[in-house]
Amino acid sequence: MYQLPELPYAYDALAPIVSEDIMRLHHQKHHQAYVDKLNAALDTQPELKDQSLVQLLAHVDDLPSTVAKAIRNQGGGHYNHSLFWQCMTPQHIEVADGRLAEAIIAKWGSMDEFMGAFSAEATSLFGSGWVWLTRDLEIIALPNQDTPMMLGKGEPLMGLDVWEHAYYLDYRNRRDEYIKNWWRVVNWPFIESRYSS
Ligand code: MN
Repeated sequence: MYQLPELPYAYDALAPIVSEDIMRLHHQKHHQAYVDKLNAALDTQPELKDQSLVQLLAHVDDLPSTVAKAIRNQGGGHYNHSLFWQCMTPQHIEVADGRLAEAIIAKWGSMDEFMGAFSAEATSLFGSGWVWLTRDLEIIALPNQDTPMMLGKGEPLMGLDVWEHAYYLDYRNRRDEYIKNWWRVVNWPFIESRYSS
């Protein structure tokens, strides 16, 4: 049985960039619903319970069609949100250092250029979805709760949720403002640790 993970900080810790209202709703309602529906789907296919969530998502297209969609959407939702909470911190760490920052600067020229490219993907993503930084330092936007694992690109380093539920209470239709502010709560040491592992 999958369980809702605790947030690594208080519900109001990211305010005003992400308000307590959004964090409570997003974590206790949206994320909880992904967990509950994932468990319900696995109850219909108990043999799949031996596989890790990463394995299930990486091979989602090979799963029985009766559960593939639920694993993709609900399992993806659980994985993505579990990662998302950890990608944020109230500590206002300005920028990355270490191997990841070096690699980003080697590829994009500067952290600002990288953040601009990532933000542009997030701003222009049509509908609901996420923007990801993959292990190979590719920025990709994917719809719904799809993850880079489904494309054979491994576990992502970081992701930004641009579903309306992630920002609408605070920012209404101003997704670009949400994205711009979001960088101030990014947990670079956590993302660096994923790159280095
Ligand atoms: Mn979400």
